[in-house]
Amino acid sequence: MIDKLNEPQREAVTLPAQHALVLAGAGSGKTRVLTTRMAWLIQTGQVSPLGILAVTFTNKAAREMVARVSSILPIDTRGLWIGTFHGLCNRMLRAHHRDAGLPQAFQILDTADQLAAIKRLLKANGIDDEKYPARDVQRFINGAKEDGLRPGDVEAHDSFRRRLIEIYTLYEKQCQREGVVDFPELLLRAYELLARNEPIRSHYQRRFRHVLVDEFQDTNTLQYKWLTLLAGGGASLFAVGDDDQSIYAFRGANVGNMADFERDYARGTVIRLEQNYRSFGHILDSANALISHNNGRLGKNLWTEQGEGEQIRVVEQPTDLLEAQWLVDEVRGLISDGRDRSQIAVLYRSNAQSRVIEHALFSSGIAYKVYGGLRFFERQEVKHALAYLRLMANADDDTSWMRIVNFPPRGIGARTLELLGDQARAYDTSLSSAVARVPGKGGSNLAQFATMIQRLAAETRELPLPEMVEHVIDQSGLIAHYQQDREGADRIENLKELVTAAAAFVSEANLDGLPAGVALQAPATGEFMGTEPGEGESSVASDALRVGFDGLSPLMAFLSHAALEAGDNQAQAGQDAVQLMTVHAAKGLEFDAVFITGIEEGLFPHENSILEQAGLEEERRLMYVAITRARERLYFSLAQSRMLHGQTRYAMRSRFLSEIPDEHLKWLTPKQGLSDSEPRWKSGGGSFDPYARNPKSSVVSAAPRSVTSGVTVGAQQFRVGQGVRHARFGEGTIIGLAGSGIDAQAQIQFREVGAKTLALGVAKLDII
Ligand code: ATP
Ligand code: MG
Repeated sequence: MIDKLNEPQREAVTLPAQHALVLAGAGSGKTRVLTTRMAWLIQTGQVSPLGILAVTFTNKAAREMVARVSSILPIDTRGLWIGTFHGLCNRMLRAHHRDAGLPQAFQILDTADQLAAIKRLLKANGIDDEKYPARDVQRFINGAKEDGLRPGDVEAHDSFRRRLIEIYTLYEKQCQREGVVDFPELLLRAYELLARNEPIRSHYQRRFRHVLVDEFQDTNTLQYKWLTLLAGGGASLFAVGDDDQSIYAFRGANVGNMADFERDYARGTVIRLEQNYRSFGHILDSANALISHNNGRLGKNLWTEQGEGEQIRVVEQPTDLLEAQWLVDEVRGLISDGRDRSQIAVLYRSNAQSRVIEHALFSSGIAYKVYGGLRFFERQEVKHALAYLRLMANADDDTSWMRIVNFPPRGIGARTLELLGDQARAYDTSLSSAVARVPGKGGSNLAQFATMIQRLAAETRELPLPEMVEHVIDQSGLIAHYQQDREGADRIENLKELVTAAAAFVSEANLDGLPAGVALQAPATGEFMGTEPGEGESSVASDALRVGFDGLSPLMAFLSHAALEAGDNQAQAGQDAVQLMTVHAAKGLEFDAVFITGIEEGLFPHENSILEQAGLEEERRLMYVAITRARERLYFSLAQSRMLHGQTRYAMRSRFLSEIPDEHLKWLTPKQGLSDSEPRWKSGGGSFDPYARNPKSSVVSAAPRSVTSGVTVGAQQFRVGQGVRHARFGEGTIIGLAGSGIDAQAQIQFREVGAKTLALGVAKLDII
């Protein structure tokens, strides 16, 4: 078992029972050491499998660890205490629910449930929610819990804070009465159970002789306290981590735990691993070069015996759609070269990027699985927004009604909904039809909601679909609601991405400019009659009809599209599938081939983090994590323009690209860039093809191959040499044109900002 390990790995695995810290870079075998140590301890009879507790960061990582242990040792894995902090604490609380003061069947509140509970509380106690907004209360309570503080432990400097503490007390009472537990409570409650209950503490302290923690750099203060308490009875605490991979500071992770642990426990037993077994040279050296731009590192260098391997392939595309299309072609090539789909990972910095990629994979029939988040159309906030749209299209959709009748919260309580349900049942109608039968305040709140849905439908009926969606996510209060949420930024991005999805749908189905709420006529009439006659859109409409939307409005067509795309993918889960995930979710994993997409300033590094040093360094660690996931082949891709948050954005290459020495990079598109000031596209029918197939790679160009002197997009006719004006870039001259229809692109020499390549279907250009 230990023969295959290198010297420092073997030393770590076979350390006698004592506290120890393994501090090592990516792919150096930390997780392998941790897993092998578990197996070794068991096999050499030093401890029974039940005497081990191991913590990982995600459920996926926990499953992998159980799999690794059972591949070494044929044991019943069900008794093993291997899991995430939340999972293990939950297990402990279920086992000792009485001592923890909980009903056995206690329910866990997610962040949104918790907020709803707080709002209800504020209301029930007549607390002014302008002075004490529920979000602030939630932040206060969770922050206190993560620091291990109960209401009595929080310092009250002033009357405002005293009131917050009172609310915290009331909230605890409410949760207790209802038998519910929020996320930070799981941890705090489990910690207190051990801290206060001597018999239980010594039971676990005696039982777990070895406590092992992976990804130690991302533990928070309470988790650290829980671990050291658990190991406090003479057990050994074995922690492995990499300060360069600390990527959860924004959630309270405290990388300082590593230094504290070394000082207070593992003094003298710090083992460093420097040989990397995962990646080939070019990949590893790129990661080393990149991370060397950070300050204050604990310091380590990684090397490999595996040889140089391939350079990182870099691709720049004019748009995110072309980036996704290129990616699909490349993935297809990898698969036909015989690679396992599950050994191909597509990583992105921000969840909102996944929709375009998912769509491209979906359309080309490549099985994929999204990790660390739901598929786009299954995400809570997207489903909420879709529920508004569904109700607008069909007031009798009771599922959608229940989903949003009180979301965002509008004071419609369970009692009122019960009454409404009774009435609907008694008169055999839908919920919305039963509203008038509910008396009193509850009834009038319900009526207000129903009126709001009708109002939204009326206001947006004549708008194009993307504008309808935009109006609805705004006017429904969803955006405002998530703006208040500590974790809401991603949700807002996704809501805005829904606008983009609607725009993409409309343009694919040729529904451009049609009123979203008005049904299209059957093609037999030969006339478009859904809107004011004489708008000259009849030809567009009959195109749409050919795609099969007869009798549906663009809205209805979009809603069925969303349902199908969400539902159909489901079947693919668990199959041999391409792995899609955020960089955060990829921590600890490895794949033969990795695509890191969207390597653009503002996206990666993310715009929210660019301005301060600490934020930028965390982004760089994220990029380091991303790069070091790859074993053999690594791709960087970026797009010059991208539809994100409902608008087209133009981005520069990420600074991270320039922090990696050229010798490691191999540009598949011109390194000088499509937007270089030297125009690379010949005007008027030249033969230069910036996407020429690279003979050594399986890249098949998705970008237009023909270069022409004139194209027509919509009503506009573009020619080389023409003067144009762009809202952001100002005036310029078209110096090259390529493609046709929605794929058409123009190379434009702008007076102020130099040459840019724009997708004509997306960019708004005036001809001057
Ligand atoms: P990360 O920082 O990304 O979590 P890690 O340090 O936990 O990485 P592992 O995942 O344990 O690294 O190991 C990386 C890869 O190297 C794995 O495929 C592992 O099996 C392999 N590996 C580790 N040590 C050795 C070794 N001594 N000989 C051969 N392969 C090894
Ligand atoms: Mg690991």
